Amino acid sequence: MKVAKFGGSSLANAEQFTRVASIVKNDPSRKFIVVSAPGKQFEQDMKITDLFIQLGANLDNNAHVCKQIETIMQRFLKIIKGLKLPLNIAGDIKQRIHAVIESAQPKFVKREALKSLGEDSSARILSMYLQTLGLDATYLSPKDAGIYVSNEPGRAQLIPESYSQLYTWRNKKGIFVIPGFFGYTKDGKLATFSRGGSDITGSIVAAGVKADLYENFTDVDSVYVVNPQIVNNPKTIHLLTYKEMRELSYAGFSVFHDEALIPAFKAKIPVCIKNTNKPDADGTMIVDQKKPSEKCVVGIASDTGFCNIFISKFLMNRELGFGRRLFQILEEESISFEHAPSGIDDMSIIIRESQLTDEKEQLILRRIHEELQPDYVQIQRDLAMVMIVGEGMMKTKGIAQKATTAFTRANVNIEVINQGSSEVSMMFGIQSKDLNQSIRSLYQAFFEN
Ligand code: ASP
Repeated sequence: MKVAKFGGSSLANAEQFTRVASIVKNDPSRKFIVVSAPGKQFEQDMKITDLFIQLGANLDNNAHVCKQIETIMQRFLKIIKGLKLPLNIAGDIKQRIHAVIESAQPKFVKREALKSLGEDSSARILSMYLQTLGLDATYLSPKDAGIYVSNEPGRAQLIPESYSQLYTWRNKKGIFVIPGFFGYTKDGKLATFSRGGSDITGSIVAAGVKADLYENFTDVDSVYVVNPQIVNNPKTIHLLTYKEMRELSYAGFSVFHDEALIPAFKAKIPVCIKNTNKPDADGTMIVDQKKPSEKCVVGIASDTGFCNIFISKFLMNRELGFGRRLFQILEEESISFEHAPSGIDDMSIIIRESQLTDEKEQLILRRIHEELQPDYVQIQRDLAMVMIVGEGMMKTKGIAQKATTAFTRANVNIEVINQGSSEVSMMFGIQSKDLNQSIRSLYQAFFEN
């Protein structure tokens, strides 16, 4: 039995809905269908979720609200008409939007409810359409399904007892279409996951109903070994482990929401990433374990927007509590760190640059000077992280050498190197301006020869 999740690009217009429907129809084991809100129809277009977010931001401005409801309704109408469904479905969607706007709830509650209506409407339309094709499909709301979450709007976390609730649906008859992206608190309040969170719902449902496979349908044939915007027509990955996918999606592989791996990972449910527009292509399988293979590096990921807090102090290694006090400063200033490679007399703390305003930078530098009396501190901005990922690296000699040679060939200076103790990835910090030539050179070294 499979759980299939369809992303926004797979439901952007009526034609995409028909593709989704035929994928569902073609395989009776696809029993739980999780959907996103309709995404962009073309590059400059807006996602329905963004339209709802805009609408929520304008709740005080009546003229704006009317115009925005109109824009949203046009999108839904086009889909409903394209699928030749009765127009009263559109009337129902409009009513739900108005019910939220006119309710006596506080504004932040209304915004959260509006944000969920993209997915909710998508699920209702798809289940109706599947019915017209003769399938026994039903819309299933996250509340009835038993998806309970914490009361953290916009970043809700699943409450584990949801799994047993979901399991009760496993043997019920028919196909269930569930809107992704939101759940309900135990006292009935709606809360959304982080952006892109329909992947999370799909993974939760797959874990809850103990599916044999979680299929995640998107708009790529499979996961590429490297960002196709940097390397032309790169190779694809057929098999990955959860750990590898986690490392890749951390560092810029946006195919799959990184939080979404956790439920499937814990329940050891294999995940398959597939293309809605080419459902017969193999896709990429993500599994718990794989046989050690020849290919020890499976992908090269990268992301920009990092900075390095470099601290040096003679005899740092003997100073009890130095690291703790340094991390405490960061904690007190609400800064989370990504990596922390260290030497005997120095430490580098890599953080996301977006956390460090100029003001915060001054504050942190002052506190480090005052509280830790280092010999030298420097904050280096505009760094990119390149990660070479592969579980097989653990047992293979010469990976670092191959990588550093590739950087040398690209004439790029490496600022920081870090190999996590899990040995699933090796990370190189370089200046952002050097990113593209580094990636191309690494691709050549690991995938072309
Ligand atoms: N519609 C939501 C978003 O745009 C969730 C999703 O598509 O996965 O973030």
